[in-house]
Amino acid sequence: MIFVIASNNAKKVEELDRILRPLGIYAKTASQLGKELDEVEETGTTFEENAELKAIAACEKTGYPAIADDSGLAVDALGGRPGVYSARYAGENATDAQKIDKLLSEMRDADDGNRSAHFECVICCCFPNGEKLFAHGRCDGSIGYAPRGTNGFGYDPIFFVEGNKTFAELSDHQKDLMSHRGKALKELVTVLKEKFEKDDKRKLL
Ligand code: IMP
Repeated sequence: MIFVIASNNAKKVEELDRILRPLGIYAKTASQLGKELDEVEETGTTFEENAELKAIAACEKTGYPAIADDSGLAVDALGGRPGVYSARYAGENATDAQKIDKLLSEMRDADDGNRSAHFECVICCCFPNGEKLFAHGRCDGSIGYAPRGTNGFGYDPIFFVEGNKTFAELSDHQKDLMSHRGKALKELVTVLKEKFEKDDKRKLL
């Protein structure tokens, strides 16, 4: 069974392909299927809504079951911001360093006890028959005072997890084991397995 992944990130698609193979699923980009996905405007106010918008668009465009994710960082002292706006927090074309600078400057008055935050990831899988599955992942941590580490992307250098390391100081493998995305992927495998055990795969197409 072929699934289209609503992402142009080749690493993400490879990872999904590896994880989903044991379920008999082959993860492909739209272009590998000879299609091109239109840019989906993330107009939702929750991670669920945005993941669903992207998954439905990819499924309708290609005719294959589609998987999309949405993720972001929620900082308690900022009332949950940047949240669903994490990618656009410092403007549409801002660099990761600019986003980090903006966040640290908004957090300048928050002391040690007020720097808690969490990453969240929601994955939506949409089938051609209209059925949808969701998987969630969350990783709790806190915001540092200055960037540390060079791995990863986005807010990784200022997000401290257990063991007093930032995400950017962990290897990819170590991050996957505890990250919001890693946990959501694990749940995705579980809910897909359950679905396939219950329903004939052909009914989903
Ligand atoms: P989207 O899920 O592609 O819409 O974007 C989520 C945004 O949240 C990214 O552009 C990053 O800024 C941030 N983000 C999501 N996951 C991570 C992560 O694992 N590390 C650092 N930043 C992340």
